Amino acid sequence: MELFPVYSLYPVEPVRGRGSYVYDSEGTEYLDLYGGHAVISIGHAQPTYVQAIADQVSRMGFYSNSVENSLQQKLANMLGRISGYDDYSLFLINSGAEANENALKLASFHTGRNRVLAFQKAFHGRTMGAVGVTDNPAINAPLNAQSHTTFVPLGDLEQVERELATGEYCAVIIEGIQGVGGIQIPDDNFLRELRRLTTQYETCLILDEVQSGYGRTGRFFAHQWAGIRPDLITMAKGMGNGFPIGGVLISPMFQARTGMLGTTFGGSHLACAAAIAVLQVIEEGKLVDNALEVGNYLMERLHQLPQAKDIRGRGLMVGFDVEGSASEVRRRLVLEQHVFTGGAGQHTVRILPALNVGKKEIDLFIERFNNLTI
Ligand code: PLP
Repeated sequence: MELFPVYSLYPVEPVRGRGSYVYDSEGTEYLDLYGGHAVISIGHAQPTYVQAIADQVSRMGFYSNSVENSLQQKLANMLGRISGYDDYSLFLINSGAEANENALKLASFHTGRNRVLAFQKAFHGRTMGAVGVTDNPAINAPLNAQSHTTFVPLGDLEQVERELATGEYCAVIIEGIQGVGGIQIPDDNFLRELRRLTTQYETCLILDEVQSGYGRTGRFFAHQWAGIRPDLITMAKGMGNGFPIGGVLISPMFQARTGMLGTTFGGSHLACAAAIAVLQVIEEGKLVDNALEVGNYLMERLHQLPQAKDIRGRGLMVGFDVEGSASEVRRRLVLEQHVFTGGAGQHTVRILPALNVGKKEIDLFIERFNNLTI
């Protein structure tokens, strides 16, 4: 049986990893500044994490959500304390798209409304509801629910207010920083105004922190730079360092009803053990601070590269443009210089390393990027 072709692949197969490096079966080392779509938050094969998963699976890997699971409460307590959201509640699922699906559903149940305001270039996932608020016609099938969505330009408060004033919207959904859209950072003041308008028009504010959250920008969540508190916060990617887990943080204003939300795999023993180990490593290693420090250093060094244009980002969520095709530059970085980076659109290179990446890796990246004659 053949695999259904989904991505265009590099002819490289990493078979093991350590920190910010991965290796193929011949032992060739690759510098990983992408973490497989921003997933690797604490580095490959981090020892505390490996041990926690091994210990947990040898005792109890999974039992359904019909019985008590104190690991879920332990994870919620840690997450509440570290993120500053200990008065919110946590719903656990398996991916970013699922997190957004459930947040949208909660907003609709809560308000009784069925329209969503989203932003141009937004990416919120590929399942029905999530893709319906994603601004990319190429990945929306005719069955997807885009008729419920209005897309407005990021930063356009007038249009936001005009739409919300209709009273039809259950939610505004926005990424902490647009990732797939090319590292577009919403202005802090725009986020504060969005918070004010959503409150005024009784619309739920959903912050999609699937990519920008979990310490990546030098705050636990990117929106915390603006000092706002959304009604719903979605997360995934870095939460499990590769083990599939996602979550929705839900403000106290939402009423729970048994059976309203549910999941088979979400919050399994193994997923919780992985996520607890991730938080422990983030906290003990002060990795949120490291993300800010090394991220600032990366931006500084990128400014010394004449090939890097329009450098933008916060912490370790950084993008820059190249003149030609970014996918060609990234392909050559992998094959000729043994460096993994991410892309967005035609010209943008995205850098999303593990939060414990060092300045040494940044220097290595700059050196290898300079070796490319572009
Ligand atoms: N939201 C954002 C901001 C993302 O970047 C992504 C994935 O790239 C998703 C949601 C979807 O996450 P997943 O692929 O885990 O469903």
